[in-house]
Amino acid sequence: MLADYHTHTPLCLHAEGNPVEYARHAQSIGLAEVGFSDHNPMPEFFDDWRMLITDLPRYFELVTEAREALPGFPIRLALECDYLEGKEKWIEKTAGLGEWDYLIGSVHYIHGGIAVDDPQHMARWTTATDIEHMWSVYWKLYEKMIRTGLFDFYAHPDLAKKFGFRPAVDLRRYYEPVIQALLDTNAVMEVSTAGLRKEVAEIYPAREMLEMAYSAKVPIVISSDAHKPTDVGADFDQALKLVRSVGYTTTVRFEKRQRREVLLPESWPSA
Ligand SMILES: [Zn+2]
Ligand SMILES: [Zn+2]
Repeated sequence: MLADYHTHTPLCLHAEGNPVEYARHAQSIGLAEVGFSDHNPMPEFFDDWRMLITDLPRYFELVTEAREALPGFPIRLALECDYLEGKEKWIEKTAGLGEWDYLIGSVHYIHGGIAVDDPQHMARWTTATDIEHMWSVYWKLYEKMIRTGLFDFYAHPDLAKKFGFRPAVDLRRYYEPVIQALLDTNAVMEVSTAGLRKEVAEIYPAREMLEMAYSAKVPIVISSDAHKPTDVGADFDQALKLVRSVGYTTTVRFEKRQRREVLLPESWPSA
């Protein structure tokens, strides 16, 4: 069975639905577990798409409510943390703020206030030079994030392609240092179906990167990055087909920041 470890709650101000509804949906489609991983709070106001630090107790309550509503169904508590260079201390502190089952690392911001996945900044990536610059900054940060060893798995690896912008070169030069970092730190990579719901209409990461990860024996998790209950487990049939086609037969589960390997199912029903 599969689990979905990347889901959000309305506390981050851009997701809808109650955690109980996410968990019910997860159970109804046959997932083994679900995990909540809302956008991490910052010590003070930072942007308008993450939970406030003062909402952390509410977050714990919402996850507890979901656990109480579905006894026996494993519901994990986590955060999706934005990696910001120089702010590693805050992540270390965050790790002590809750009984996390895992922490996800993400790169959205590539320089002060500019997020690669923000439609408001799409107009910046017009020339080939802009796109190459964006890609090189993004991947350098992604590698740096992995090398901190602060996170349990790493989200939507090639998010920089979200709007379909890609340098016209062999992209393996960008993936390579990241695969090496995953290998060196014994880390896990996310395979995210969120990209299928975006302009690029592709799973994150690209097949070539997944093949490199498989050759390097980097473990994977499949997730949806759900921002509404019905997104939970979305397109897992496609993701499973993809990962099995490159050779993967296992995935991992997390509990209290410990991971164990489990077998992937042979197939998954399409929704
Ligand atoms: Zn989000
Ligand atoms: Zn997310």
